Amino acid sequence: MNHPRPHPTRPDFDAVIVGAGFAGLYMLHRLREAGFTARVFEAGDGVGGTWYWNRYPGARCDIESVDYSYSFSPELEQAWEWSERYPRQPEILAYLNHVADRFDLRRDIALNTRVTAAHFDQGAGLWRVENDRGGRCTAQYCVMATGCLSVPKAPDLPGIERFAGATYLTAAWPRDGVDFTGQRVGVIGTGSTAIQVIPQVARQAEHLTVFQRTANFSVPARNGPLEAAEQQRVKADYPHRRALSRQSLFGIPVALPDTPRRTRDIPPAELNQTLETLWAQGGAMSLLAAAPDVLVDPEANARVAEFVRGKIRATVSDPRAAELLCPTSHPLGTKRLCLDTDYYETFNRDNVTLVDLRATPVETLTEHGLRTRDAEHRLDALILATGFDAMTGALLAMDIRGRDGRSLREAWADGPHTYLGLASAGFPNLFLITGPQSPSVFTNMVMSIEQHVDWIADCLIYLRARGIRSIEASAPAQAQWEAHVAAVADATLMPQADSWYVGANVPGKPRVFMAYLGGLGPYRQRCDQVAAQGYAGFALTPAAVAV
Ligand SMILES: Cc1cc2nc3c(=O)[nH]c(=O)nc-3n(C[C@H](O)[C@H](O)[C@H](O)COP(=O)(O)OP(=O)(O)OC[C@H]3O[C@@H](n4cnc5c(N)ncnc54)[C@H](O)[C@@H]3O)c2cc1C
Repeated sequence: MNHPRPHPTRPDFDAVIVGAGFAGLYMLHRLREAGFTARVFEAGDGVGGTWYWNRYPGARCDIESVDYSYSFSPELEQAWEWSERYPRQPEILAYLNHVADRFDLRRDIALNTRVTAAHFDQGAGLWRVENDRGGRCTAQYCVMATGCLSVPKAPDLPGIERFAGATYLTAAWPRDGVDFTGQRVGVIGTGSTAIQVIPQVARQAEHLTVFQRTANFSVPARNGPLEAAEQQRVKADYPHRRALSRQSLFGIPVALPDTPRRTRDIPPAELNQTLETLWAQGGAMSLLAAAPDVLVDPEANARVAEFVRGKIRATVSDPRAAELLCPTSHPLGTKRLCLDTDYYETFNRDNVTLVDLRATPVETLTEHGLRTRDAEHRLDALILATGFDAMTGALLAMDIRGRDGRSLREAWADGPHTYLGLASAGFPNLFLITGPQSPSVFTNMVMSIEQHVDWIADCLIYLRARGIRSIEASAPAQAQWEAHVAAVADATLMPQADSWYVGANVPGKPRVFMAYLGGLGPYRQRCDQVAAQGYAGFALTPAAVAV
């Protein structure tokens, strides 16, 4: 562990990093390699972030393992063996623990320590950081690796305190697992997480009731063991594969088409054949990557959406349940496109009931179950897959104060304001990894995280080499970036859906589209250009000048 420096005028650390998931771990590694001192604070009692907290049955990534993994170390790439195409949570957590050990990261990570406040001390030109264990330290830079989906949304269910059965939040699942054998279980929510949980619990529980408010589109994963020969093939091709991912739209190894063909111009039989092939191969991102204009062109979207609805109708034998499961409230892809194993098939089981909460809204939880307008459903256990306060939740949970004591909550009262999703005007020397208005959740996050970490580390090296004490996003550059992010989003169908991308799942949250949709490859070029121009759009202050 790095110890605070005794010198009174120097900060304790060059950087404080908040969070020890994919982002925090790699940030620590890069900074240490570059000779900076850094301290990571993590609220959980282990590393891994998302993969530490989300231990619910069926939890897996929805990007292929060989791509949803770090690319910074060719030795790590070659050494680690993935067992499945889409690995389960324990395997991803084991991978991240392996990374922590392999790169000797643990000695600079304080676990069980939640950062509660970070205040910029203008006079001293450093951040003063406080945590929930009463600890304080100072750092020149503060890097928020707090995650886009790390703050579960509190369930707003009337009468929840009366329910005598057990309740489980998917994002804080008991470490020893839960045995639902012989129980009547309810699941609230039908997003990505619920779509993974439902088939698993249905196999175990005596009865499962799925309470659905909004039907979501889901694509089969076609998961299976990752054969040794296939893994070897990927490993031999890694440099090329990663290069493709870095330049791609979504951070997966699919090249940007030279002359994109409009989906609406593809003859129906040909489009159908392409979609059948993609459906048989599985994978949500590859479906979107094959026809990226589905996110822009309503006609293209309608054609692909209808194809998926056809698959749902062909899978679910009860026509009433099939219709309820067919999404109609939003265009395909405008809410996170889910990936499943046997999700729609699960509704053919005798022990599974689908309840449409739009037709029969929840009235209250009772001692023994959940009462909707039309019926009382007896439950022994209730699973809450109710989502996250996405993108801004973890940042705004802390008392972050920048220049002149202005809080981030105040600065972002009408929605997040960032330059490149990496920094925010008024908050010198504060960096956000996969912050709002960067591609983040719209990509393979590991690729986006690596891009941000590398950019931040290179930036700090640049500043150190030139004796620069402070870097801060300029307000005009930020305004321009935000206008660009909004223009790109408005040219798509994305803002139409009441999704967590626009904060619609959290009452009172300002409705702003929070991710950058220009694609990871083009975004990377933009960030590189900013750096090459001496950090254009940022104000750099030399050491001798007061901040
Ligand atoms: C169930 C689930 C499945 C997902 N599947 C995929 C997928 O298949 N593909 C994909 O690309 N992305 C997926 N994601 C997104 C996923 O979050 C990212 O891929 C990635 O794990 C994010 O890493 P991170 O380090 O940025 O954040 P996280 O993994 O969220 O880690 C952030 C850490 O910061 C800590 N923290 C937050 N605030 C504080 C504080 N104030 N003080 C101290 N510690 C703090 C948290 O405890 C957490 O451990 C999924 C997310 C979820 C929830």
